[in-house]
Amino acid sequence: MKHRRSIDLVASHEAVAADRETLATLPQWYVLHARCDACRHETRIDRRALAYRCGKDLSLAMIGLRLTCRSCGNRRGNHLLLGTLPRD
Ligand SMILES: [Zn+2]
Repeated sequence: MKHRRSIDLVASHEAVAADRETLATLPQWYVLHARCDACRHETRIDRRALAYRCGKDLSLAMIGLRLTCRSCGNRRGNHLLLGTLPRD
């Protein structure tokens, strides 16, 4: 059964093993978002740009620790969120 949905964000630990999955192993239909713990700024992350910058073998958990908010510059406690694109 297939439903066309908007992007559905979930906490990373609910969807995947964030300490094992990397940008290379994460299925293509996942999109990444980052949310700042300080100002709640949320933005979509370009997977390819992130892989180019951090390397595609970095675990999602490690990426979460490296996030820097573009709005306020906060680097602590930021969240990496996973969303799924609609699958036809
Ligand atoms: Zn922020």
